[in-house]
Amino acid sequence: MPEKYHIKTQPIPPRRPRVGKYGVVDWREDCARCHNCVKKACVYDRYRMESDYIRNLTDVDALYFDCRGCFSCVQDCTKGLLCLSVNPVYEGMGNRYWTPDIIKTTWLQAETAKIPVSGAGYGGPFTGTGFDAMWTDMSEIVRPTRDGIHGREYISTSVDIGRKPSFLVFEEGKPTGVFPPLLSLPMPLIIDMSPAQYSLPDLGPVIRQAAANTDLIAIFDPSDWPFQQADQQRYLPHVAFYLDSAAPEPPKEVLRKTRLVEIADDGKVLERIKKLKSIHPDIVVAVRIELDAKGPRRAIDLAGFEEVEVIHIAADLNGNEIGTKNPRFIKDMIREIHTALIEDGTRDDITLIAGGGIALPEHMAKAIICGADLVTIDLPLMIALECHLCDRCEPGMPCPAKLEDIDPDYGAGRMTNLIAAWHDQLIELMGAMGMREARRLRGDVGRAMFFEDLEEETFGRLFGTRKKN
Ligand code: SF4
Ligand code: SF4
Repeated sequence: MPEKYHIKTQPIPPRRPRVGKYGVVDWREDCARCHNCVKKACVYDRYRMESDYIRNLTDVDALYFDCRGCFSCVQDCTKGLLCLSVNPVYEGMGNRYWTPDIIKTTWLQAETAKIPVSGAGYGGPFTGTGFDAMWTDMSEIVRPTRDGIHGREYISTSVDIGRKPSFLVFEEGKPTGVFPPLLSLPMPLIIDMSPAQYSLPDLGPVIRQAAANTDLIAIFDPSDWPFQQADQQRYLPHVAFYLDSAAPEPPKEVLRKTRLVEIADDGKVLERIKKLKSIHPDIVVAVRIELDAKGPRRAIDLAGFEEVEVIHIAADLNGNEIGTKNPRFIKDMIREIHTALIEDGTRDDITLIAGGGIALPEHMAKAIICGADLVTIDLPLMIALECHLCDRCEPGMPCPAKLEDIDPDYGAGRMTNLIAAWHDQLIELMGAMGMREARRLRGDVGRAMFFEDLEEETFGRLFGTRKKN
């Protein structure tokens, strides 16, 4: 039996003071000095930790905000002197899509490599926009001893990247013909280049190490080349160069050690694929298509060419269509492309990679259900390094996460932890859905419910169709 995919992890605490959501405001003036003060009863021991923090204070601009918000001390204080406050620094992190809660949960996973536990019940809204308007069917969740990370049955998260022949021809019991190159990844995830807004520090060495630790692939701008000669053997199989028309091509002997390369959709796609194949016949070539108003149609058209093996569709960093006033969300664009390819009879021939707005592991599973074979992520790995996603990420401006002097081992360890936690969550999700293979999850919309469909089914007959923007 092949060895199970397993990512080695270890806890890696943050370098900077934690930015928690809640802090306790303590009005000490009227304190009755109770013998059994509620502060001693905090199950998370936050009052003692706060005293230690203040005694050893190094960052004078960071207050202690690490209360878990259980309200126990607030409710039980005899004189009612304690109250909770929400940390304004916490509330200022990220944006409407990359919410403070997403940032916090990502930090926690990068620290512990564990699946975050939110406590008893879900306290959030029933539905929302984007991926929150889609629910996965967890009706098989009753079998924890059989499925999931602690289950006895193996759930495969491997995926294949490349063009697959639609049929096989056998002669004397052996398949004949030319088989296009195919590469396998142990989970449906590729690390993408950081968006221009958040490319303050050079994280190349950190990302390369994280890709090698997790046996995944990271996409790189070739200007990041060359890296240390000694690193080539270890890192090149985990690197995919992104070649836009203006980019200098990496040396041929370097390209031959990689397994995947990505090219821009610059109108000369077919010639460029041919040229790359002449240098390295076993390389898989992906074409990157920006998801603007013409993006989905372009992806569908390109998939019809025999030379095209992989299409990487990229929305903006919030998962929205690029450059339109009323943008569609990536999940809807994936579904449109996937469905059109099925109608054209070409869906099984090519691999579809989707990126943009993948902020949580459930987004990875949901994008696959919508029809992507695998996804790319970028910002979650930046967040793993304690990035706040602030809007002043420019050289010369102070970075609250001090990413400019990050230790590569620390950075790669935190990214590795995060990917391991995502892998565990994908297994848990698939186990709860009764799925054994990530490949079979692709396009299985029967495993999900979509808010728009349910609303239409339930209320459409009474109120008609919802107005489109
Ligand atoms: S609210 Fe709960 S977690 Fe926070 S300090 Fe009080 S007892 Fe501790
Ligand atoms: S913390 Fe802010 S300044 Fe630092 S890398 Fe992240 S977004 Fe940029």
